Amino acid sequence: MIRFEQALEIVLSQSLEIGKELVPLSEAAGRVLSSTVYADRDMPPYNKSAVDGYACREEDLVRGELKIIENIAAGYYPKSVITTGCCSKIMTGAKLPDGADTVLMVEEVIENGDHVRYSIANGKKPKNNICLKGEDIKKDELVLEKGAFIKPEQIAILAAMGVSMVPVSKQLRVGLISTGDEIVEPETTPNEVQIRNSNGWQLRAQIIRIGSIVSYYGIVGDSEELLQKKIEKALSQNDILILTGGVSMGDFDFVPLILQNLKLEILFDKIAVQPGKPSTFAIKRNHVDPHKADKVVFALPGNPVSCYIQFELLVKPFIFKSMGAPDPTLWIEMASSEGFTRKHTERKALIPVKVGPDGRFSIVNYNGSAHILALNNANAIAEVPIGVSTTKRGDKLRLFFLH
Ligand code: AMP
Ligand code: MG
Repeated sequence: MIRFEQALEIVLSQSLEIGKELVPLSEAAGRVLSSTVYADRDMPPYNKSAVDGYACREEDLVRGELKIIENIAAGYYPKSVITTGCCSKIMTGAKLPDGADTVLMVEEVIENGDHVRYSIANGKKPKNNICLKGEDIKKDELVLEKGAFIKPEQIAILAAMGVSMVPVSKQLRVGLISTGDEIVEPETTPNEVQIRNSNGWQLRAQIIRIGSIVSYYGIVGDSEELLQKKIEKALSQNDILILTGGVSMGDFDFVPLILQNLKLEILFDKIAVQPGKPSTFAIKRNHVDPHKADKVVFALPGNPVSCYIQFELLVKPFIFKSMGAPDPTLWIEMASSEGFTRKHTERKALIPVKVGPDGRFSIVNYNGSAHILALNNANAIAEVPIGVSTTKRGDKLRLFFLH
């Protein structure tokens, strides 16, 4: 049995080579950027009014009334220069006219026909309400790093910089097989000894969420022959194969044997982590360059909480690495609002917790790795290190957020 950190290191010592492609901006969310993006212009591109108001010269405010000489809408060039005693009405986002150094907000002035007067006559200087050219982004500045996972925030930057076709890593093809004679699909009414396939559907959603393409091969019963055939087929059609169930020590857990039959090299099959101990990682080496893998297999335990966590902590970093992105898992330390005790300490425990508005976490009701409601009630997973049996209220543990 290896430690979780070693397992992650082994996983991240492998990666699959996938190419690059250009996709329209409308399809770029959830993908990984394959080139660095530099600013093609200043932002703002011109000195810009931050408010609806009147562009004027600050030194003129003591003069009393200012004559309105123009109305500047956003998207139009100002025509007139602001000179002594004048101002131009200006809309939010419009270009500041030459000669102006201040924009009075509509709320700060008294309008009188074609004149306005600054109404806050308590000697208080108005804010200038101007966004300066280039104050947010300078032309040629690096705005997005290669390897960035593209979320809506990054879409905004790509759009603002005119990247309408986005260079991204190609998508990985992930095959998915659920195993177990007791497993039936959600549309089936199970008999008393059957369990609905929650795990396969959970994994499918996890794979799609990080921008990979999933092919689902259904449920295969605990038959060595059938399962081996299905695994061979799924491996030939995908880059990654994820199996759930059948990896434990039971009489009908055939996955490890089949992986060996198929000449896959098992790099680990037990991790000192709870839940998720039987998580298995195997690779098919490239014939020409044995340092490279052509295919990888993650065989994860059947219970949904184990499987969810091991996907997030092992499979997701692997997929990100293959796409050229860093491990997205963000571990942070937080104090607990209650104590925790356990008997066995030879494995790292990963427990569903809920971080509250006070910045402390509490442990949610959790009976074990089949308890899918625990993940629903949690918003993070906390780690109790190997060797630690008791933690007190206020002790800090590392955790990562579910999202
Ligand atoms: P296994 O890893 O096959 O030993 O399964 C461990 C536990 O997870 C058993 O109680 C299974 O019934 C359950 N299980 C296996 N596969 C699934 C699945 N796809 N959805 C929900 N539970 C499952
Ligand atoms: Mg099973």
